[in-house]
Amino acid sequence: MVLDYFNYHMVPLLILLAALVFSVFCLGLYLRERVRAKRLEASVSGERRFYEAFAANRRDFFLLVRQSDLHILYVSPNFEEMTGIDQERLCSDIEALKLMVSPKTARRVIRELKEWDCSGELRLEIDYSASGSEQVSHGLVSVRLEESTSCYLVVFCDNTQEYKIRDGLKRELGQARQESQAKTDFLSKMSHEIRTPMNGILGMLSLAKAHVMDPKQTGYYLDRAESLSQFLLTLINDILDMSRIESGKMELEEVPFDLFAVAEKLDSMFRSTTEAKNLKWDVRMQDFDVCRVVGDELRLTQVIINFISNAVKFTPPGGSVIVTFRQMHKIEGKIHLMIRVRDTGKGIKSDFISKIFRPFEQEDASTAHHYGGSGLGMAIADNIVRMMNGEIIVESEEGKGTEFVVYIALPIAEGEQEVPETWKSTGEEMDDVARKKAIEEFTLDGLHILLAEDNDVNAEIAMEIMEMEGAVLERACDGIEAVRMFEESQENGYDAILMDIQMPNMTGWEAAAAIRKLGRADADIPIFAMSANAFVEDKRHSMEVGMNGHISKPVDYKEVRRLMGEALLNR
Ligand code: ADP
Repeated sequence: MVLDYFNYHMVPLLILLAALVFSVFCLGLYLRERVRAKRLEASVSGERRFYEAFAANRRDFFLLVRQSDLHILYVSPNFEEMTGIDQERLCSDIEALKLMVSPKTARRVIRELKEWDCSGELRLEIDYSASGSEQVSHGLVSVRLEESTSCYLVVFCDNTQEYKIRDGLKRELGQARQESQAKTDFLSKMSHEIRTPMNGILGMLSLAKAHVMDPKQTGYYLDRAESLSQFLLTLINDILDMSRIESGKMELEEVPFDLFAVAEKLDSMFRSTTEAKNLKWDVRMQDFDVCRVVGDELRLTQVIINFISNAVKFTPPGGSVIVTFRQMHKIEGKIHLMIRVRDTGKGIKSDFISKIFRPFEQEDASTAHHYGGSGLGMAIADNIVRMMNGEIIVESEEGKGTEFVVYIALPIAEGEQEVPETWKSTGEEMDDVARKKAIEEFTLDGLHILLAEDNDVNAEIAMEIMEMEGAVLERACDGIEAVRMFEESQENGYDAILMDIQMPNMTGWEAAAAIRKLGRADADIPIFAMSANAFVEDKRHSMEVGMNGHISKPVDYKEVRRLMGEALLNR
């Protein structure tokens, strides 16, 4: 009875309870799965967002194409943006891809696809552009057959940047090759140019030796050897200048200088040569209200000297060489200058004018034969003027004459501008004439000279030549010894010092600076560098350390005499 009652009331209750527990369990399961699904969904959409963002931020794009019918199954989201081709249009017709490339590229790609055996990866380089855009991109297309899905995976990689870098590198490589070739050509040309006079010098010396019993003939051969050596020296200087220009090592100075002083120097440099050749010669200064400018006086002078030397060389007696400096304008603290060298010489053939600034160019083979020269002067002048941001204009008529005009702008130097009221390139003051004469007649006879020279042969030659003229020389073998010998000498015991620069223990520059610092009354003794360091920079440095002049080796003893005369007669 009790059991019946229990069964009657409890069983439905238990069933209800079980149903309730089951429902709660199911609800729990459902909720757990929902949370999992939500998490999964979140993570999938996160990944998709990541992939889409990844694809959208790249310039690469890809397609999945079914192998059997070339139906496009997938296109990366940035495809349309990158190619300008509508996705739907592409999915309905794969041929729409042709819109990206030129017909020629399309034909090449189709040919290569046909030839491809579907193994490995086919890589194609293409130039493409988004339809409607002018801008060409460079791409690498890789096509691979995915065996598992029988689909082609086509990936377009935008390589425009890499191409640009590669093109730049290719260009630089080409340029480097060209420069290296130019250097090789320059070296072989230089070697030829040096060997030619060298051969002449050695030949003349052996002839002199063979005719030693015939003084007249020996003298003739030695004279020829000497002039060939002079030519060789000029050539070496030009070659060094040229190679310094080509390697970018030539630097220009920016210091104040006087244009009238430059004109005066040129005038006195060429006056006697032009007179001797019976040429009309004049240096003119026109329209100047400024005379001091800032720039590289030595290099500018070097350029004009080259033009004048050529003008003198190529103009027969009776002709004229006129140099004109003209101030054209004055703008923003600079004067614009015209420097013209005009001659009435043989002129230049019109087809050669375009080649005149190339190194080693001469009009024809007979030029070197008749007039000498190496064909480097113009190339050097052109480079220097271009470094000064100027230009050279050449005008010439065969048989009538030539004019070289340099246009440059130079900053006006600070301070007063004492422009001479009248410029007299002709006629010198009496004092100047007398002084020049005294310098010309100056000899080394009786001078007591300290020679600092570490090289025995050079020392022997210098001592013998100068002693032949009556000078007394004492030799120091390095800078330290030179300073010591000077310190130990009695005041005014030496008249001058000739100082090699590159010496062991102490250089000539250091020795000169040390002598200048000695507290003796004669510490201002004339000191001349006598050195194989022949660059303009070396000459400048000699002056900076307080020397009176710089004589380049091989030594021209006429110059030694002139410099010593100038220094000693002015004391
Ligand atoms: P170089 O004078 O040593 O031969 P340059 O470079 O100074 O070398 O000149 C190159 C060539 O230009 C000369 O050899 C010559 O043929 C020609 N040239 C230069 N200046 C003149 C000039 N004033 N008159 C005629 N020809 C000239």
